Amino acid sequence: MEFMLDEALEESVRDFDGFLQARLVPHLSGWYQEGSIPREFFRELGAGGWLGMDRSGKGCREQSAIKQAVLMEHLARISPGVGVAVAVQVSLGTKGLVLHGSERQKEALLDAAARGEILICLGNTEPTAGSDVANVAAIAEKVEGGWVISGTKAYVTNGTLSDLALVTAISDPDAPRNRRLSMFIVDLASEGVSRTKLHKEVWIPSDLTRIRLKNVFVPDEHLLGVRGRGLQQVLNIFTHSRLAIAALTLGTAAGALEMGIDRAGKREIFGRKLRDFQAKSFEIADLFTRIEAARLMVWKACCLKDCGMDFRQAASMAKYLAVEAARQAGTWAADLFGAASVMFEHPVHKFPLDAWASSLGEGTQDVQKLIIFREIMKQRGIVE
Ligand SMILES: Cc1cc2nc3c(=O)[nH]c(=O)nc-3n(C[C@H](O)[C@H](O)[C@H](O)COP(=O)(O)OP(=O)(O)OC[C@H]3O[C@@H](n4cnc5c(N)ncnc54)[C@H](O)[C@@H]3O)c2cc1C
Repeated sequence: MEFMLDEALEESVRDFDGFLQARLVPHLSGWYQEGSIPREFFRELGAGGWLGMDRSGKGCREQSAIKQAVLMEHLARISPGVGVAVAVQVSLGTKGLVLHGSERQKEALLDAAARGEILICLGNTEPTAGSDVANVAAIAEKVEGGWVISGTKAYVTNGTLSDLALVTAISDPDAPRNRRLSMFIVDLASEGVSRTKLHKEVWIPSDLTRIRLKNVFVPDEHLLGVRGRGLQQVLNIFTHSRLAIAALTLGTAAGALEMGIDRAGKREIFGRKLRDFQAKSFEIADLFTRIEAARLMVWKACCLKDCGMDFRQAASMAKYLAVEAARQAGTWAADLFGAASVMFEHPVHKFPLDAWASSLGEGTQDVQKLIIFREIMKQRGIVE
């Protein structure tokens, strides 16, 4: 078992860090104030090969899970909010196409998505369907040449920024619960689509959008995957994207800890640096250890995925541990900055809130425990 990254990946990380210092860090405060990320940034990511795909004359090939996770950790250390916008493009939108798109859909969209020219989000959550992913109410009615979709997707990251949304809707209302949904590629410029950007206080500067679909026509060619298999498909996408959100959350934890260690080395109180108080030094040791444990779990889950093995349980355990670590590190780091930490503009301000948000993406902590428990029972032959 390898615990080290290979030299090629180390080099990619160094290149990516250089890109982030040059193209993200100088702009971040402005994007934070505006609450939006310019599309040009996605094009720059695409040009650098930082959107999860390697492009060549022969087409697009997905990068390894470990590479994607390590890069995501580095991005999220600086900005979990930009991290989530990238994660949605790579691990929900593009991933949905990779996993379930037809050859024609892939040919039409993958290269543009990998270049950051087309942005793709995913809408499943509705007022009735969050953790209960299947409980979607949006309806897709079959008509000549396509489908007419109506419904509301309540919380969609990148919903304002994106060109296309992968959405779930009931295509077969009389079928059993696990055969009722299908997935569709919806052009967000279509007639009948309206979007409301929501005011949120987490994962800034990414956008969170409510998308309303009123009699939106979607041609047959934009059915994603197989009719009636939408639930299995969206769950499959979430299983894969859980690796990305685990890495993003790990980056949130690591970024908070670094900022806290830096502060503890600079701030003097009662004639001593904060880090020279043993209580603080023990907290640093404790958090560093928890974050390293979460990192090893993320890497293990990626390693299983890259070896073609079942990574479902490992991905949930990775996300579960990363969220615990980020919640602890985020509030710890903010505490060290005292009053300054409650200022919106202060860079530490985001960490506790973003750690909180990360528990929601791709399943809450309770949902991760449900998955982990089910896998434990499967291994014992108690459930199928
Ligand atoms: C910033 C942000 C971005 C988002 N982006 C997207 C997006 O791009 N696309 C998208 O489709 N959705 C998105 N979501 C929605 C997100 O996926 C849901 O919020 C999440 O799945 C939880 O659903 P819910 O909010 O309806 O909470 P609920 O499902 O109502 O959960 C409420 C509580 O019940 C607990 N619970 C649930 N099931 C069980 C159980 N079986 N046993 C015990 N406790 C349980 C949960 O852990 C939670 O504490 C986003 C949300 C946020 C906040």
